[in-house]
Amino acid sequence: MTVAGMKIVVIGAGIGGLAVARALALRGADVVVLEQAEAIREVGAGLQISPNGFAVLRALGLGEAVADVSVRAQAVSLHDYRRGQVLQLDLTRLASRDYYFAHRADLIDVLARGARAAGVRIRLLQKAETVTPGLRPRVDLANGASVDADLVVGADGLNSRVRPVLNGSSAPYFTQQVAWRALVPNTSGRGPEARVHMGPLRHVVSYPVRGGTMLNIVAVQERAAWTTESWSQRDDPMAVQAAFADFCPEVQEMLAGIETVNLWGLFRHPVAQVWHRDGAVLLGDAAHPTLPFLAQGASMALEDAWALAAALATGPDRDTALQAYQARREGRVRRVIAAANGNARKYHLSFPPLRWAAHSALRLGGAVAPVRMMRQFDWLYGYDVTCDE
Ligand SMILES: Cc1cc2nc3c(=O)[nH]c(=O)nc-3n(C[C@H](O)[C@H](O)[C@H](O)COP(=O)(O)OP(=O)(O)OC[C@H]3O[C@@H](n4cnc5c(N)ncnc54)[C@H](O)[C@@H]3O)c2cc1C
Repeated sequence: MTVAGMKIVVIGAGIGGLAVARALALRGADVVVLEQAEAIREVGAGLQISPNGFAVLRALGLGEAVADVSVRAQAVSLHDYRRGQVLQLDLTRLASRDYYFAHRADLIDVLARGARAAGVRIRLLQKAETVTPGLRPRVDLANGASVDADLVVGADGLNSRVRPVLNGSSAPYFTQQVAWRALVPNTSGRGPEARVHMGPLRHVVSYPVRGGTMLNIVAVQERAAWTTESWSQRDDPMAVQAAFADFCPEVQEMLAGIETVNLWGLFRHPVAQVWHRDGAVLLGDAAHPTLPFLAQGASMALEDAWALAAALATGPDRDTALQAYQARREGRVRRVIAAANGNARKYHLSFPPLRWAAHSALRLGGAVAPVRMMRQFDWLYGYDVTCDE
């Protein structure tokens, strides 16, 4: 089948939506992206692009542009919240050196320019209300307009309108964890390394973005009080500073630099059972939101984007192609999500002897078998969705 000339509507100008729009337009499709926001503006903070996600950016011809606005990562280190470094993973030992820390807004900017350059039309202030699958699936918008197409891609994130049309409603459950997100000036001159400081029931991840001028901070705490799942809820900087008051001076100093902070409740969502029906298809967080503990949200959306465009280009017809897309993606996505869920427990060991034993084992593993330590990530980072159509 050829996608050339296919009319495709993508809902959502996020990472997955813009990437799939460029991938499809480069293959000749007529693509429109509908975005609810009034501008593609600076929202969000840092995110990680691992080699498996970067492979897609490179294949889309955007690798250099993303590398130019990102920090190339060299290491990830794990630290006890008081006693210092437990382990350092040397990312330069990965088969691909393309592991980056980026500001979400910078990545979105490169993707949006790339989509437009390929002929994609991005329409702002277009909130999708619902989708009706069919031979020509239709999108009804909040402004009363409607648009039909040969294919509608639901790349509309966590609170997708397309997902319930295909799957009915599902109730995510609160993990009893919250995350604060903030950006602070990198006054201590921290190098290209992500640091994870692990304490009882809490951890803090920090890494440099924007040419190393800023540090992105994600501070996670287990707590029973319910918190909303939102990218835009503000909190008082003093709340995060108080929650980590017993962490080492390095963490205290970072947190002291916070002027504005967002608070976000962490929820577990089931992976969608049905990813497509009659020309409506899900992609990225709309199909499979993940907890942030493996930093794979953006990379999974990028992998999906490539896989969907490739399936449409090679499948015998639209519906068979969509079936092949889900079959290719679902197993990998489930594995990534399970691994992210497991990391939450590993970081938060609260019983001191257990924490000591776990940290000692990690320290020993890192010292004795650093290559083996890195090998455990081959399945994740060594995978290149663009090589295997
Ligand atoms: C505002 C915002 C800030 C974020 N900040 C971070 C961050 O700092 N760090 C991080 O790791 N991850 C962040 N994320 C999440 C991260 O981008 C995703 O987890 C991941 O990249 C998967 O991307 P996606 O394209 O599937 O979804 P998203 O990147 O969430 O994109 C979904 C897009 O769809 C749009 N949309 C939603 N509903 C509709 C609708 N009904 N009609 C039209 N458009 C719609 C949204 O406005 C958004 O642009 C953020 C997401 C958002 C939306």
